[in-house]
Amino acid sequence: MSYFNGMESKDTYRHILKWGDKREAGIDHRMVSLLKEKFGLDDAVFRDRYLPGAEEVRLQKASALTPEQLDTLRSICGSENVLTDDLSRASYSCGKFYGELLDLRLNNVPDPPDAVVSPRSHDEVEAVIRFCSAGKIAVVPSGGQSSVTGALRAPQGGIALDLTRHLNRIITINEVNKTVTVQAGMFGPAFEEELNRHGYSCGHFPQSFEYSTVGGWISARGAGQASTGYGKIEDMVVALKAVTPAGVIETRDFPRTAQGWDIFRLFAGAEGTLGVITEATLHIFNYRPGNTTSAAFIFRSFETAVETMRRIMQSEYGKPHLFRISDPDETDIAFRTSGFDGTFSDRLLQRLGFRTGSRCLMFVTVEGERDYARFVLGKIRRTARKGRGMYIGTSPVRKWLEQRYSSAYMRDPLMDIGIMTDTLETAVTWDRLLQVWSAAHRYVNTRPGAFMMIHISHVYENGANLYFTFLSPMEKGNERDDFIMFHRGLVDTIVDNGGSISHHHGVGRVLAPWMEPHLGKSSMDLLRAVKKHLDPDNIMNPGGTLGIS
Ligand SMILES: Cc1cc2nc3c(=O)[nH]c(=O)nc-3n(C[C@H](O)[C@H](O)[C@H](O)COP(=O)(O)OP(=O)(O)OC[C@H]3O[C@@H](n4cnc5c(N)ncnc54)[C@H](O)[C@@H]3O)c2cc1C
Repeated sequence: MSYFNGMESKDTYRHILKWGDKREAGIDHRMVSLLKEKFGLDDAVFRDRYLPGAEEVRLQKASALTPEQLDTLRSICGSENVLTDDLSRASYSCGKFYGELLDLRLNNVPDPPDAVVSPRSHDEVEAVIRFCSAGKIAVVPSGGQSSVTGALRAPQGGIALDLTRHLNRIITINEVNKTVTVQAGMFGPAFEEELNRHGYSCGHFPQSFEYSTVGGWISARGAGQASTGYGKIEDMVVALKAVTPAGVIETRDFPRTAQGWDIFRLFAGAEGTLGVITEATLHIFNYRPGNTTSAAFIFRSFETAVETMRRIMQSEYGKPHLFRISDPDETDIAFRTSGFDGTFSDRLLQRLGFRTGSRCLMFVTVEGERDYARFVLGKIRRTARKGRGMYIGTSPVRKWLEQRYSSAYMRDPLMDIGIMTDTLETAVTWDRLLQVWSAAHRYVNTRPGAFMMIHISHVYENGANLYFTFLSPMEKGNERDDFIMFHRGLVDTIVDNGGSISHHHGVGRVLAPWMEPHLGKSSMDLLRAVKKHLDPDNIMNPGGTLGIS
């Protein structure tokens, strides 16, 4: 059953806040009954929209750029590429962090840029940065705007520099070196489709793939869903070209060097604070979807599943590409919402000791050359069996892959019924992973009515990430402060128990307060010194990003 059908006007806050193609996603009937049960909701809640953000966008702050400044920007990029209307400025004022979505639902745009500027070439980016440096105008580089860390806000106004409108093409595919050089504003699907036509794949598939860009992937230091095999984005970059206020940095595509440290790595995770990436050269992979092998397993407990995952990663027989474990809470939700609960197979699993409340799903794919994929999957199946995991076929993995991007549409309808839902993620070594996992659950359980699911989805020899999705009824009338306090407590819990601030979402402004306590003053001073050198007037994404701007 689908609730809330019909499209909204394009001029509303709601249109800005909605994910992806802006569809009005519905809540499936199994999910509805689950939500009713977990949160005690009645039918009325599903009929109205809570904080819909349905009003037309009207900004309180007028653009602070002078007519002369705007004329200069127009002379550089063309009039049609400099926008100052309320809707454009509001649209580029944020990403998809829960707190930003809440602001939009409250018809509020706290930090709009003064203009949205879309340069047509690398040279125009250089000219814009020169001009903004001279006038000390803030610049926030903007890709797909899928940031979930408040990294796109413009607390000091200035310009949102949109890379997607024109800088969105593959420049060259170098088949000898097996690399691609691509403009930073290219979106995932167009990038992958063109690579596929040449027999290659980019190997980077974040859940936000359809609405995120190569420049954003590098700048936020992201990880795709198959990162265990293909690596994080920083493992794929071999060179890049960036415009900074101190000049252009262009690195070369040597396989490895010993020429001091790797300068291109400064931009992986810089979140627009050092300059604008205009081009990147990345490794590419053979596109052989027909060779992909997959397997789903079920384990009796999270602990045994994690132990098996560790053994697989440390075995040295080859790595899976997609590699996930859903903890018992996530597994239960998956079983209930897929209609598996209560079936004959479910009852059989329960009798075999794979019980609701403790059982865990593990999903694996292995890609690459056919014999290799079969060989590695065979080894994984043996290791899983030794770890008392039971093979349950391939169809759960296939079904998961079918909805790998569409589950991102669930957050909007949940917020429509007054449910606070956000995600956090961390990296942690194996010896502390269970501690972080259980401490996070304990923390969330202190909030009446709150619920959390956790999965592992990016795995390494010495540890893995943990990805937390929490849901709780909003505190009506105090939605923002309540969320911030709850979120802060969860980050503290993760960090205090040995997790990192982030594994792949980046830091932005939301997690910046944890940077110095986590990294230490000497490390932060080093980051600030680099920033000071490349951006002496602090025009690049200023106002708190990474705790250095
Ligand atoms: C539903 C959803 C699912 C997500 N799933 C994942 C996931 O699976 N894996 C993952 O890694 N992330 C995920 N994210 C987070 C987000 O998609 C990533 O951080 C992504 O890499 C951001 O790319 P973007 O093009 O949208 O960048 P933006 O959001 O536009 O920008 C992100 C940051 O990079 C800077 N920036 C962007 N382009 C440039 C450039 N050319 N030069 C310099 N700085 C630049 C911006 O200033 C900002 O600081 C998800 C987000 C959402 C909303």
